[in-house]
Amino acid sequence: HAKDQKRGKLVRFSPDMLSKSLRFEAIRNALKTAISNAELTVNFQPLYHMQKQSMRGFEALVRWNSASLGAVSPAEFIPIAERIGLIGEIDDFVLDAIADQIQEWQSHGLEVDAIGFNLSPRNLEADGGADRLHRKILSRGLEPSALLLEVTETAMIQDAIAVARNLEQLAAYGYLIAIDDFGTGYSSLENLHRFRIEKVKIDKSFTQAITMSERHANMVRSIINMAHAMNMEVVAEGVETEHQRECLSEWGCDILQGYLYSKPVNAEEAEKFMRAA
Ligand code: C2E
Ligand code: MG
Ligand code: MG
Ligand code: MG
Repeated sequence: HAKDQKRGKLVRFSPDMLSKSLRFEAIRNALKTAISNAELTVNFQPLYHMQKQSMRGFEALVRWNSASLGAVSPAEFIPIAERIGLIGEIDDFVLDAIADQIQEWQSHGLEVDAIGFNLSPRNLEADGGADRLHRKILSRGLEPSALLLEVTETAMIQDAIAVARNLEQLAAYGYLIAIDDFGTGYSSLENLHRFRIEKVKIDKSFTQAITMSERHANMVRSIINMAHAMNMEVVAEGVETEHQRECLSEWGCDILQGYLYSKPVNAEEAEKFMRAA
């Protein structure tokens, strides 16, 4: 109601807006005590390595089972945590969980590949972000090579200069870096060339569109070819069907992640994947 607004009248609050803002408030309130109430956990999704023909490495994914709201998806609460300034605490929690888990697995004599850690853009936006993150990670006894830092394509495009500087610094410290959700951010691999990136993770919406049309299939195939031409490995997210697996295998995709292989699982289940590999 632009007209109403111009005349300084109140804009009517639609039921949809109301329920969205109530949901936001409910999540904001519940999130404040989520960590102290031990409502957060971390799951691990194993990845399939094509060349090694075995499950290799994991992505760490936070889970929230709220006493008042039930299970809330990170896709919903992470953006809210970023807005209300709680993301730092969540990052800390997830890093703690990864560090504990790596230590436990190593004490069981297992070799642990780099674990994917979803880096909130917050860490890269300001000068010194890389150093702060590096200190946090070292303080938990983790080596930089223990982590694959996943940064979304969207985060890389925003504030590109600060992000590039921080990523450069992190690469220099020895971290592996992946572009997450590639294909959703309206950039090209070419203009991401200046970042030091080891892996491209093709967003699940693209993986799942392979079967939709020849055009979609060609798009995924050219992302793989272009990434390889730039010496990057390719991970396909959201692989759910045998047909998707066949196409990706034929096109030389390096690593597959998705329900076809496994959902994200708890540490105990994850350990079984490591022992079977
Ligand atoms: P993401 O980093 O792209 O993670 C992949 C998402 O795809 C995960 O959703 C995973 O459970 C889901 N997935 C994996 N395989 C399949 C499949 O075959 N089919 C379908 N439909 N989905 C699949 P999840 O765990 O709900 O996480 C959503 C997003 O929330 C993540 O997307 C990431 O951006 C963010 N997130 C998750 N954990 C963390 C965290 O610890 N820290 C931060 N900052 N963000 C996180
Ligand atoms: Mg990710
Ligand atoms: Mg992803
Ligand atoms: Mg994704």
